[in-house]
Amino acid sequence: MTTFEGPGPAPAPCEPADPGMKYWVFDSWSLGKAIVHKDDCDFCANGTHRQGSRNLRNGTWRGPFAGRAEAFALGRALGRKTMRGCMTCAP
Ligand SMILES: [Zn+2]
Repeated sequence: MTTFEGPGPAPAPCEPADPGMKYWVFDSWSLGKAIVHKDDCDFCANGTHRQGSRNLRNGTWRGPFAGRAEAFALGRALGRKTMRGCMTCAP
């Protein structure tokens, strides 16, 4: 039995906890949609922005935004045909 723990690099500090809700915009250029989500949305959590963008073929996450208004403003600025809040998390 060996227990060897070498002098590895110090663990990187995590991002500071954010006191407020964050918002994300899923920008789907192929479908022409921009959908705003809250950070704790099931869709977001299961999905994808936490795991990188490898499995996103049709779009990308943009964010986080500190405010709902900012997220919607970005969504509109993208100029997609459809721009709305997520039905699940209702941002
Ligand atoms: Zn959502």
